[in-house]
Amino acid sequence: MDVYGLLGNPVGHSLSPPMHEAAYRELGIDARYVTFEPEVESLEAAIRGAGALGIKGLNVTIPFKQDVVTMIELDDLADRIGAVNTIGFEGENRTPVGYNTDAVGARRALEHHDVALDGARAVLIGAGGAGRAIAFALADAGATVTIANRTEEHATELAQAVPGATGHSLGELESLLANAEVLVNATSVGMEGDRSPVAADLLDRRLTVMDIVYQPLETRLLREANEAGAETIDGAWMLLYQGVEALEQWTGQEAPVDAMNESLRGELSDSSGAFK
Ligand code: NAP
Repeated sequence: MDVYGLLGNPVGHSLSPPMHEAAYRELGIDARYVTFEPEVESLEAAIRGAGALGIKGLNVTIPFKQDVVTMIELDDLADRIGAVNTIGFEGENRTPVGYNTDAVGARRALEHHDVALDGARAVLIGAGGAGRAIAFALADAGATVTIANRTEEHATELAQAVPGATGHSLGELESLLANAEVLVNATSVGMEGDRSPVAADLLDRRLTVMDIVYQPLETRLLREANEAGAETIDGAWMLLYQGVEALEQWTGQEAPVDAMNESLRGELSDSSGAFK
């Protein structure tokens, strides 16, 4: 039996085990996906020990995504982002290599909905860990990225690292959105209380709006974007595709996207608890 796992702390409510195990069943792979909660002091030993034990692959979540960067080799995208959420064990020596499938997951979520990113003008709200990954993903796909954030200097700092990007305050959203085709919310606003990071009257039918908050699935932002006639993409799509991308990285097989999506949405609708 193969073993895959998730490193985080806490990871008790993670949606990844059922989603990945649904994929193993569909692919006929004899494998389990288990969660681990190491202390940060033993994180590097945990990764190397996992490789030595023959664990096939690891995901990494809060609070370790940045810590891992200094501990293992990285692919180019993870290196530029400065965060890892997926580790593969590669070559005869099973060398751990870090990837960032959050970034690819966001891009694939948009592509799944036929959003053309090459040449698009995209407004990204948020400059935290997820915002950083998405900014690189959008720019790599050919979009012009405009980052707006509550703390403006976080947006301008991130923009300096992302080709062609600019950083702004949330107060500038009206003028930024006037020229945009794509809007992504990568802040946590919308998780608690019925709140949106964007005033409803700034939304219209020209926009595709993706919210990466996945609890609730229908955030106030998405509800108001729908009412304005915009296309909307909920946060489960990015979560799905970061898992799809990780599974394909580990197994070299095409992931059973529908089975993983069904599992994920079943878990999300079954639970009222907090995840990840
Ligand atoms: P993070 O690193 O803590 O960043 C939080 C971001 O939200 C920052 O830009 C912060 O702005 C902003 N923010 C927080 N409270 C705000 C408020 N009251 N008003 C305006 N902006 C506010 O968190 P993260 O890891 O990037 O995660 C952000 C969200 O994405 C979370 O809800 C998380 O669950 C979700 N997420 C989803 C996926 C997925 O696959 N769907 C993946 C990763 C994360 P400042 O810079 O001003 O603090």
